[in-house]
Amino acid sequence: SRGSNGTTRVAVIAGDGIGPEVISSGVAVMRAAVDPSVGLEFEEFPWGSEYYLEHGRMMPEDAIETLSGFDEIYLGAVGWPTVPDHVSLWGLLLPIRRRFDQYINLRPTRLLRGVEGPLRAADAGALDITVVRENTEGEYSDSGGRIYKGTPHEIAVQESIFTRRGVERVVRYAYELATEKSGRLVGATKSNGISITMPFFDEIFREIGEEYPRVEATLMHADALAARLVLNPERFDVVVGSNLFGDLLSEITAAISGAIGIAPSANLNPEGTYPSLFEPIHGSAPDIAGQGIANPAGAIWAASLLLEHAGHAEAGTRVLDALEGALADGARTRDLGGESSTEEVTQAVLGRLKDAQ
Ligand code: ATP
Repeated sequence: SRGSNGTTRVAVIAGDGIGPEVISSGVAVMRAAVDPSVGLEFEEFPWGSEYYLEHGRMMPEDAIETLSGFDEIYLGAVGWPTVPDHVSLWGLLLPIRRRFDQYINLRPTRLLRGVEGPLRAADAGALDITVVRENTEGEYSDSGGRIYKGTPHEIAVQESIFTRRGVERVVRYAYELATEKSGRLVGATKSNGISITMPFFDEIFREIGEEYPRVEATLMHADALAARLVLNPERFDVVVGSNLFGDLLSEITAAISGAIGIAPSANLNPEGTYPSLFEPIHGSAPDIAGQGIANPAGAIWAASLLLEHAGHAEAGTRVLDALEGALADGARTRDLGGESSTEEVTQAVLGRLKDAQ
């Protein structure tokens, strides 16, 4: 749905807490990175918790319809202490993810120069892992129920749903990505304990692997993989997992890359039939909201992913390079042990971008 004149239309949902602070930083960086003649248009939507407290819903009834006119969605964070978690999730994020069939959750992590990770052995540069998480099915189904409530015989059942189409498309995406990167792919399984869905996942992982003889593909049990990611993160490149395993493993990779304020996430509809959504992984951080000290790195990295997906790959790379350069120069917020404000980090990134032109 690229605009006819080549313009990329981006819907911006800055959201709550530090969301607007980091998003304005990311938008400034995107504007600086992309040649205005190529065109990048932003439109802001004031949806989220404040909207909910006023209207009883996180976004208007026709929000999905409105968003479908855009190429990409750039999101800050939604959620606030006075709004129940399930409201912010089910009222905004999940409908967007589902209606736009964003079946890939891409979570790249690197230990950027200037950032100290928690692992002793991890050197900057050695750590570069992308987790590809299935985003629409699997363990997070609403299928199941509870019986004999409140009795000693109470039972809760929740089904995992794996479809051939669902597994094939996420696994294929991961093989393609591994081909572009260093050619190593690990599939997260648990077929030693989960006897029906996981062998099905493994089977498809191997089948599709036959089409990619050059990718060095391995299946690893998710528990052992979790340990390996901490002990030898430098050995990993692309990791693909089901909705649950991808969720857990991507939290580990984000943690070893330094701080929650750095990591980005992309919810992709790779074909571009519908808009994809880009966001930092952190939440609204009410404790530091409004102080101008939020780390904009995650939002800026998410902006880099957005540009790449929107066909501005070169600009996306320049943004990530500028961010890394700024951090290495010492433009670091408090969560990274520095003293810079959000604005100072943003200016440092903009300065680096200017120098690169
Ligand atoms: P949610 O429940 O929506 O995830 P949250 O804000 O409680 O929201 P996190 O986003 O995980 O949860 O943040 C936890 C804490 O980490 C914050 O309270 C804040 O202190 C810190 N933090 C998160 N993001 C940033 C950031 N971008 N810059 C600086 N500190 C951050």
